[in-house]
Amino acid sequence: YRGGRHRRVSMPLTVVCSTTGSTIIIVSFEAAPWSKTGGLGDVVGGLAPALVARGHRVMTFSPRHDQYKDAWDTNVTCELLVGDKVELVRFFHTHKRGVDRVFVDHPLFLAKVWGKAGSKLYGPSAGKDYNDNQLRFSLFVQAAIEAALILNLSNSKFVSGPYGEDVIFVANDWHSALLACYLKANYQSRGLFKNAKVAFCIHNIAYQGRFAPPDFSLLNLPDSMRSSLDFFDGYSSPVKGWKINWMKAGMLESDIVITVSPNYALEILSGPDRGVELHTIGKKTGLEGIVNGMDVIEWDPSTDKYLEVNYDSATVFEAKPALKEALQAEVGLPVDPSIPILGFIGRLEEQKGSDILAAALPEILKDNVQVIVLGTGKKALEKQLEELEEKYPDKARGVVKFNVPLAHLIIAASDFMLVPSRFEPCGLNQLYAMRYGTIPVVTSTGGLVDTVKEGVTGFLTGKPFNVKCEEVDPTDVQSLITTVRRAVKTYGTPSYKKMVEACMAQDLSWKGPAKRWEEVLLSLKVQGS
Ligand code: ADP
Repeated sequence: YRGGRHRRVSMPLTVVCSTTGSTIIIVSFEAAPWSKTGGLGDVVGGLAPALVARGHRVMTFSPRHDQYKDAWDTNVTCELLVGDKVELVRFFHTHKRGVDRVFVDHPLFLAKVWGKAGSKLYGPSAGKDYNDNQLRFSLFVQAAIEAALILNLSNSKFVSGPYGEDVIFVANDWHSALLACYLKANYQSRGLFKNAKVAFCIHNIAYQGRFAPPDFSLLNLPDSMRSSLDFFDGYSSPVKGWKINWMKAGMLESDIVITVSPNYALEILSGPDRGVELHTIGKKTGLEGIVNGMDVIEWDPSTDKYLEVNYDSATVFEAKPALKEALQAEVGLPVDPSIPILGFIGRLEEQKGSDILAAALPEILKDNVQVIVLGTGKKALEKQLEELEEKYPDKARGVVKFNVPLAHLIIAASDFMLVPSRFEPCGLNQLYAMRYGTIPVVTSTGGLVDTVKEGVTGFLTGKPFNVKCEEVDPTDVQSLITTVRRAVKTYGTPSYKKMVEACMAQDLSWKGPAKRWEEVLLSLKVQGS
C-alpha cells in the first residue's frame, strides 16, 4: 500500500491560483467552537484566522465528531489503510473568518462522540482512552495528508483548488504526532510533497501516546521508522521499560518542534520530571516557545452576551459590584459585593491543582473572602468540590458542571482568578481574567510566568509546585496560602486598581502570537528552499 493510490475523487480538480502567503494546514483532533476539551481546541480556533489575516491560506483539519450544522459534505472520499483494514473517509467543509475548516468523517470519530459532551473525544470518561485510539489517530493524520491533495476548495476569495504539495503542516500533540512519519513513508519516498514541511506543536507533554512495542504493527509504517518510536522510560504503563512513544516520533521526524510558551519550553528541557522524560529528545531537536493568544471576540467584557452588565476599562469599577451580586446569587453565597471573590475554573485533573486549593481553603477562608470553583473531571476531585458547600456554607461553592455561561460570569465577577496548576503549558484562564479586569493569582510555572507579571498584572507563587501528581505537598499549600493572602491584602487599594487597569490595557489577542508563528513557519521554507 502507498498512501493516495486508493484515492477515489468524485470532484473535478481546478487549477491552484497561489497567493503571496504560505499554505498552512493545522491538524488537530479538536477545533473550537466545533470541538473542544481545553486549550488545544481554542488555539486551533483562534490561531487560524489570525494567520489568514497575515495573508496566508489556512485550513484546519479535525474529525467530524458531531453533525455540525454549518459544515457541508464535499462529496470527496478516499480510502486509507488503517490496521489491517481499508477505510473509506469523507470530507466535510465550511469556510469561516477566512479559514477552511475541514472535518474528516468516519465512524471511528462520529459514532463514538456524537451527541455526547466534548469530553468524550479521547475516551469514555476523564482519564480513560478508547482502546482503538491508535487506529483513530492513524486514520486521522493520513486523511489530513490526503486532504491537501484531493480537496478542491474554492470558497476562498483569492484562491481555489487543492492546497497541494507545497504546504506547511502544523501537527498538534500526540494525536497528530505521526503525520511527519506518514508523510515521509508514504509520500516523500515517492517524490511527493518534496517541499512540504511539518511543524509539531506540543500543547501538553504529559500525554505522549505510549503503547506496547507490538502495537507498532498497527501503524503500517516501515521498519526504518521504528527507531523513532522506540523509547525506554521509567513509566510502568502500559508496559514497563521499552515502549513505542508517538510524541517522541513527532518530535524527531518533524522539521521543527514548538510549544505554547517560552517558559514551558525551558521547563521541558530542564530534566525528566518537567520534561516527562522527553527532555533528551527536546534537547536534540530544539524547542521553540510561542505564547498563545486568546479569542478576544468570545471573551470581551464590553459585548459578552452571558453578562447582565457589560463594561470596559472606563466602567469596570461600576460594573463589578452588580456582577458580583449576580454571581453570589447564582451560586447561593451571601450577597455582598464588598467581599473579595476568588474564582477557579478548570479540568479537575491533578495538573490544575484543585486538590492543592482544597487543602489551602481552611486557611484562605479565615479571611473575609468567598471562593467559587467550577470544574469537571476525575471523580475524587469532583467529590472534593461537592463537599465545599457543606464544609463552608457561607464562604465556598464548588460547581461540578461544564458550564460556559457560568465560566464567563466567574471570570467577570471574581476579583481574583486562581490558577494553582502544578504545571501549565500556557493557560487561558489567566488571559481571560486579565481582559476582564480580574487579577490572576498563579503558580510560577509554564506560560503563567510568561503572561502574568508579579505586582503589575497579578501575583505569582515564589516557586513552582511539586510536579508529582500523587501527592499534595504541604509546602505548596503554604505557598498558595501566602500568595493568596498577599493578593487579597491589596483588594480595594489604589495599587489593586492600578493592576486592574494594567491588566485590561494589554493586547492579549492572537495578533502578536500569529506574527511569531508566521516567522517560525516561514523560516522552515527558507531553510528548505
Ligand atoms: P487546558 O487546555 O489544560 O484544559 P486551559 O486553561 O488552556 O486549560 O483551557 C481550558 C479552557 O476550558 C478554558 O477556556 C476554560 O475556561 C474552559 N473550561 C474548563 N473547565 C470548564 C468548565 N467546567 N466549564 C466551562 N468552561 C471550562
